Amino acid sequence: MAGRRDYLTTEAFFMEIAKLAAQRSKDPVTQVGACIVKDNKHVVGIGYNHMPNDSDEFSWENTEGNKHDNKHIYVIHAEKCAILNKTADINGCTIYVTLFPCNECAKDVIEAGIKEVVYLSDKYAKKQSTIQAKKMFDKVGVFYREYGLKQEPAVKEESGTKKRKLGRVTQVGTVFFYNKYLKIYRY
Ligand SMILES: [Zn+2]
Repeated sequence: MAGRRDYLTTEAFFMEIAKLAAQRSKDPVTQVGACIVKDNKHVVGIGYNHMPNDSDEFSWENTEGNKHDNKHIYVIHAEKCAILNKTADINGCTIYVTLFPCNECAKDVIEAGIKEVVYLSDKYAKKQSTIQAKKMFDKVGVFYREYGLKQEPAVKEESGTKKRKLGRVTQVGTVFFYNKYLKIYRY
């Protein structure tokens, strides 16, 4: 008897964990979750945006009038939370995030040795913090891609064929994306 065909894919499983973690957030505006995965198999860190110690003593307000007492001063972002909660060495890991990391979390991701970011939403793509995060990822070689881009092993070299150049190349107008390790294509 054949097994089920409509089972949750590995990638969907990890992103669903990130989405579930986001539901723990008390932020009335933006709930973010993160899930760190080792070897495409093991969950080694989960996080969501929250106040220190998940305390209710801090304000979630974010208005012009309270610049010195607003949520940005206190909140711990999901990525940092997941990194702090790591249960194993996360060097070389992938982090699944429901929202593209800000510049501060990008620094944490880089310093933790995480090599890939898979994101669900990039709704703040035009914000400086997101632009700076991508700039840092690009410069140090952290690969990022939108959730839903399927991943396959690197292209195998066949004898007699022209060696394919691998690098951080996005072929505009086609469905293929390459980095050093992965062949990525859209569904
Ligand atoms: Zn952040």
